[in-house]
Amino acid sequence: MTFKALRVDSQGAEMRFVEMSDDELMDGDVTLNVTHSTVNYKDGLVMAGRPGIVQRYPMIGGIDLAGIVEASRSPQFQPGDEVLLNGFGLSQSHYGGYAERARVPGEWLIKLPPGLTRAETMAIGTAGYTAALAVLALERQGVKPEQGSVLVTGAAGGVGSVAIALLAAAGWRVVASTGRPGEAGYLRDLDAPEVIDRAELSSTGRPLGKERWAAAIDSVGSHTLANAVASLKRGGAAAACGLAQGMDLVMTVAPFIIRGAQLLGVDSVWQPMDRRLEAWRRLARDLDRRRLAEMTRTIPFADVREAGADILAGKVRGRIVVEIG
Ligand code: NDP
Repeated sequence: MTFKALRVDSQGAEMRFVEMSDDELMDGDVTLNVTHSTVNYKDGLVMAGRPGIVQRYPMIGGIDLAGIVEASRSPQFQPGDEVLLNGFGLSQSHYGGYAERARVPGEWLIKLPPGLTRAETMAIGTAGYTAALAVLALERQGVKPEQGSVLVTGAAGGVGSVAIALLAAAGWRVVASTGRPGEAGYLRDLDAPEVIDRAELSSTGRPLGKERWAAAIDSVGSHTLANAVASLKRGGAAAACGLAQGMDLVMTVAPFIIRGAQLLGVDSVWQPMDRRLEAWRRLARDLDRRRLAEMTRTIPFADVREAGADILAGKVRGRIVVEIG
């Protein structure tokens, strides 16, 4: 039996569709039929052949997958179980979700959270699950909606869109920062009453700005993150998830030692299972399905490379579901 996969064979080579067989799959105690995946910024980087992400070749792309268990030696999973998987080195050190079949360690898998379909879990994907991790990090820090607004940068992107919906559901007043003024209506519909131009935050700023927000979720990095932190209210916190503007971070310690600001790092790939389950429970409970549908576009497997180029070009609004098998 053969299956279709999107694979890169060596550093710098183009990713291409190939036919593979089950005996080429990597080790794992659960074999599944992959039905859905998605396109995150990191998937775009891998499809463009950017160095530093893929750690072994050949490699199948796709950092997320959802599917149905076909065979399992893990006591936790039975044939027919619907499952999802984010991170754990998919598309880096283990074959990813851009293939009709996958074999993975059972301890990486999550049973589909009640109330979510496989397609919806991929509409959420790593981007949405990371947004949930960021919201939970802010809550663990103790910042509350009563203290002021929350800034979301990269607002019209995947992490940003899901973050807005989750924060609004938790009672926050969201300030959405975007470089696409044409998406202001979309962002307001997601429940961000204030939309600002990302140019306000994207250049070198002052060590301390006016106190504007109690919290921030940033998927942009660079000067944007520095300015987001510099404008936190006293005791506020910012969760740093991404680097769409840049990996650099030049700032002073002023926000930390004068206003007690907290900077919280968010890594989605190697989160322990209890944190993953907490994030997925939160998404299943709080993410409005109508809003999720409004922020999601579905594409066939054949179109995934074009979507990867679009996400790097900043042209993707919200989230993409890829129908795999
Ligand atoms: P998207 O492309 O969907 O969203 C990124 C958004 O950032 C864009 O939509 C755009 O928003 C904004 N943006 C793009 N380029 C620039 C720029 N030059 N300057 C300022 N803003 C910019 O990507 P994702 O939401 O999937 O991922 C966002 C980031 O988070 C990526 O860097 C990704 O690698 C990272 N990430 C990290 C994870 C982790 O584990 N820490 C997990 C998931 C993602 P707008 O048009 O509204 O301005």
